[in-house]
Order: sequence, then structure tokens, then C-alpha cells
Amino acid sequence: MPEPVLSLRGLDAFYGDFQALYGVDMEVAEGEVLAIIGANGAGKTTLMRSVSGLLRNAGPQVVYRGREIGALRADQVAALGIALVPEGRQLFPSLSVEENLIIGGRVGRKGPWSLEAVFRLFPILEERRSVPSTSLSGGQQQMVAIGRALMANPDLILFDEISLGLAPVVINQIYDQLPGIVGEGMSAVIVEQDISKALAVSGRVCCLQEGRVSLEGRSDEVSREAISHAYFGS
Ligand code: ATP
Repeated sequence: MPEPVLSLRGLDAFYGDFQALYGVDMEVAEGEVLAIIGANGAGKTTLMRSVSGLLRNAGPQVVYRGREIGALRADQVAALGIALVPEGRQLFPSLSVEENLIIGGRVGRKGPWSLEAVFRLFPILEERRSVPSTSLSGGQQQMVAIGRALMANPDLILFDEISLGLAPVVINQIYDQLPGIVGEGMSAVIVEQDISKALAVSGRVCCLQEGRVSLEGRSDEVSREAISHAYFGS
């Protein structure tokens, strides 16, 4: 068995005294797309923040390519090749589309993703490269957030609810690009509220319930009943 790109080994996460994750075990294999589903407050965003260094924890519980990264800062994690497309996009509002993208390139590594490559993926961003990111539609802003993450040339990309608040046609447009994004060698973790979507785009799925893994399996094998049980606990 090749070494997983990412392993979570009994990951606990806290906000002060409040525990949001309890002993989460999870692995992401090379080239795999893992979907994380779960109800509001289940801990999905906390998991993404723990991996990307935004929420720092004990250390040995997050292992990336054999290296413990749980105690690293977000910029150190990015430099190793993990990029986050955060919930709510979090673009720099006073900067142009192009400037937002260029900032993504500053924290990462050298590789195939450049401004030109992002513009090939999302041509509308080239047309709008000079305008402030806030003047874009929600879908276009999401494209900037994805492009910004790609500019860091990650080999593990984390998508936190990229469909949130977007029209179905725009969501499809973004997901249609996924194979081109998660190309050779890149692995992905996707947090997605839409279960059908999550199953369609992933190889494996993991459900969180109140901070614990309640289901884990191949996306083409898990039953709707099992998901419903894992999701709601009923
Ligand atoms: P959603 O789909 O609503 O984004 P989620 O599965 O991503 O939910 P998290 O945002 O990870 O869930 O939240 C997990 C738990 O941690 C929730 O009970 C939430 O209230 C709590 N929590 C999240 N952020 C904080 C914070 N900054 N301070 C305290 N508690 C928090």
C-alpha cells in the first residue's frame, strides 16, 4: 500500500473548552477525491481548518506525506503543498481578481498552475481580471477562490462548501471543471452539503456526526439508508 497523502490519526479539535472533533481517523490516498458530508455543526469546517493550519492542535494527529503538520502555521502548511478554498471564499475585497490570484501564488510552490492556466480553466476571470473581486457574481468569486488555491500549486486541495449560495447551473459549471483541477497527482477533500453531488464527484465518502466519523466508504457502494443513518443518527 502506498503511503497516504493525508492521515488523520485520532484528531481532536477544540475551541477553548468546547470539543468539536473527537478522535477522527481518516486517510486520503494519492489522486483520490474524498467527500466529507454531515449536518450543520458536525465539524466539517473544523476538520478543514485543522488540516490547513488555521486551527492548530496537538501535532501528531495530522500527518501529511509522513510528516506531522498539526502544529504548523497556515503559511507553513501551504508551503508544503496543501491549499484551502475556504467556506465563504474570503477574497481580498479591495484587490482585483488578478491580484487575488497572484497572492495565492506567493504562499505556495512552483508548478503547472499559473495565472494563464487559471484563466484557461475559468476564461471569465481573464475578461474580468482588473475589476475588484467584490464586483463579481458569487459563482465568479468562487472561481477566484479556487484559482487562488491552485496558484499555490498544491498537491492536496481542500474545498469547503464550494456550492454554498450558488445557483445550480453555476455549481455544475464549477464541478464540471473538477477533473481538470484534480488532474494527475493532485488529491482533494471536498466538503459538500449536497449528498448526491458529493457522491458523484468523489471516490470515497466520510460522514461526520457531532464531531465523530459516523460512516466511511466507497462513494459508489454506500447506501442511501446508511448515509441517512450516519447523517442524522436515526
Ligand atoms: P456548517 O455546515 O454549519 O459549516 P460544520 O460541519 O462545518 O457546519 P463546524 O463549523 O466545524 O461544523 O462546527 C463544529 C462545531 O464547532 C459546532 O458546534 C460549532 O458551533 C462549533 N464552532 C465552530 N467554530 C467555532 C468557534 N470559532 N468558536 C466556538 N465554537 C465553534
